[in-house]
Amino acid sequence: MMAPEATAEDVAAVVKTVEAAGGEAFVSRGVHRTIVGLVGDVEQFETLNLTALRGVNDVVRISVPYKLVSREHHPQMSTVQVDGVPIGPGHFTLIAGPCAVETPEQTVAAARMAKQAGAALLRGGAFKPRTSPYAFQGLGKRGLEILAEAKADTGLPIVTEVVDAQDVPLVSEYADMLQIGTRNMQNFALLQAAGGSGKPVMLKRGMNATIEEWLMAAEYIAQRGNLDIVLCERGIRTFETSYRNTLDITAVPLVHSLSHLPVIVDPSHAGGRRELVVPLARAAIAAGADAVMVDLHPEPGSALCDGPQALVDVDLAALATAVRELPPLLERQLTTR
Ligand code: PEP
Ligand code: MN
Repeated sequence: MMAPEATAEDVAAVVKTVEAAGGEAFVSRGVHRTIVGLVGDVEQFETLNLTALRGVNDVVRISVPYKLVSREHHPQMSTVQVDGVPIGPGHFTLIAGPCAVETPEQTVAAARMAKQAGAALLRGGAFKPRTSPYAFQGLGKRGLEILAEAKADTGLPIVTEVVDAQDVPLVSEYADMLQIGTRNMQNFALLQAAGGSGKPVMLKRGMNATIEEWLMAAEYIAQRGNLDIVLCERGIRTFETSYRNTLDITAVPLVHSLSHLPVIVDPSHAGGRRELVVPLARAAIAAGADAVMVDLHPEPGSALCDGPQALVDVDLAALATAVRELPPLLERQLTTR
């Protein structure tokens, strides 16, 4: 763990020392500090006296398989900045927007609804990973341009999904945070490309993934030098079929105890039905989520994707009340834009 004031030369000296001893060193730069992850013969690293090198704060042996994202060597919780919007302790952030970008009018209207409800970040899919190849796949690059129009209109930074490693450079031109969806949680080439993008990354939990698999997936991003990762619980597959997915609320406090990364919840893709979204969002806030991400739509009946779960009218108003009133009970303040 480097000191906050450590220079690039100090970091390079650590890497050189480790490599000279036959080890590997992975440098991860966070907002507040740089961490160098060492892989190799731990006994030998102990003989190197790394704490004596300039800029080194501490050397910690990590016992869990995820090193860079674990809390063992990073006890204080991280705050991820998304174009100036904080996600982390003391803050509560609402992320809202349409499931998919459809038209400029729909997206700008949705962005205004999001801002009005208290959102500080705009979500919206331009590349849609659909279960059916016959379903609407998103507008692609045109969708990204529309998101930029909505950002210009509302000032809300953009969270949008990237589904293919090849698209990471293009999506990074528009996104303030890259989203990796549940179906791609273990697409390791995509994780590595996102890790190298220089953008914060939201990593959704795979619908069939254990918490350890989820944290190992985050480790792929961190290992590429990016610690600005937000973990998103969005419901998992269970035997239950009467709603879309089972929201694993237990994951929120548990992952907070295992990792320093912010943990957020998507109640929309968990419940799958509008009337379930606000109760699940309230539960997420109460469990300590750093942010909640919801789908909304100006006309859910005509939505090209996930209309039944899109908030509008009274449900959106109820969410707006919840995000203002509940976080202060948990020593968090809603971030506004
Ligand atoms: C989404 O948020 O648009 C989405 C596709 O979610 P998930 O990957 O959780 O299904
Ligand atoms: Mn959706």
